[in-house]
Amino acid sequence: MNTISLDQSYVAGTYKRFPVEIVSGKGSLVTDAGGREYIDMGSGIAVTSFGVADEEWIAAVEEQIHKVQHMSNLYYTAPCARLAEALCLRTGMSKVFFGNSGAEANECAIKVARKWAAEHKSPACNVIVTLENSFHGRTLTTLAATGQAHYHELFQPLTPGFAHIRAGDLDALKALCETGTVAAVLIECVQGEGGVIPLDPAFASALENFLHEQDILLMVDEVQTGNGRTGKLYAYMHYGLHPDVVTTAKGLAGGLPLGACLMSEKVAHVLSFGDHGSTFGGNPVASAAALSVLNRLTDPFLAEVEAKAAFLRRELENTPGVLSVSGLGLMLGLKTVKPAVEVVSACMENGVLCLTAKDRVRLLPALNIPMELLEKAVSVLRAALS
Ligand SMILES: *Cc1c(COP(=O)(O)O)cnc(C)c1O
Repeated sequence: MNTISLDQSYVAGTYKRFPVEIVSGKGSLVTDAGGREYIDMGSGIAVTSFGVADEEWIAAVEEQIHKVQHMSNLYYTAPCARLAEALCLRTGMSKVFFGNSGAEANECAIKVARKWAAEHKSPACNVIVTLENSFHGRTLTTLAATGQAHYHELFQPLTPGFAHIRAGDLDALKALCETGTVAAVLIECVQGEGGVIPLDPAFASALENFLHEQDILLMVDEVQTGNGRTGKLYAYMHYGLHPDVVTTAKGLAGGLPLGACLMSEKVAHVLSFGDHGSTFGGNPVASAAALSVLNRLTDPFLAEVEAKAAFLRRELENTPGVLSVSGLGLMLGLKTVKPAVEVVSACMENGVLCLTAKDRVRLLPALNIPMELLEKAVSVLRAALS
């Protein structure tokens, strides 16, 4: 049996895959089993920050893999410690907990919020408020956090203690907070799975002010927006926010599983021995990969990301068949005249891999995609859109 029929026979049917088997790649080009090349405008959903099989990334992984590929968290390893230091120095946060995915990073954030509020306020103060149309993961708790009912339907009962408000509706939040049960608010600066929808900056700062006044935690889910994706290290930096907790994953290790929950001084000491853990969390190979990714996200590099993003946005805004362009940096959503899935199929037929998010075409190219490939991808997209 070939890969596609084996997969269809034996892999749980949770993914609607395209009939394409990717076998290899280099940078922003990937090759299928038939030898056909595609420009990758999805990066494994914002994961392969420097593309596929990037030499510098391979070198970092390989160096560590030859030393020690895993130790239990009962012992110290340098990549984990150095990565935590780098994350804290670049964000001003104080402590990091490592897991293996975005959902786990958010689970940690939720545990931090609950324990902090139980100790500083009361055990009844345990509600986490998130935004409608948000996405925070697939575990039963992060599903409860996710503000999209269609993900919830067949999996009741979900973890209690979550409430959702419409983005922009500060009054709804104020009403919820009157009961004294809200511990934290968790937001995405740009809703990724929700359709690449940026948060209104005025709402974001009003939200921060209100939460500060009320001594309620502000937690930002940077699983998709983080690690240079939007042209800054983290998207909250565009908004001038000062979150108490930041979660990230996807692009952090450039293609290995790693999630991180960053804690500010205010909550740095909430978690203590035995409160949380993860067998693979802070794995030395994943951490070494992340350290190499982080070291390359310099200011000049991020300026290039912004320049590429500006080019992509300008080109697409002036493309017939595009109704609007949303997003931040190299995380863009296109509202299109044709159905988004049709545009994505036409692109694939012409050698460009794109994504959708809700009813939009979503673009998440590697942060180092060469200009020449970006231009080629734009011309394929333009043909598919009109
Ligand atoms: C992808 C995503 C998650 C979930 O990450 P996993 O690694 O799939 O668990 C959580 N939050 C946001 C904003 C995401 O985009």
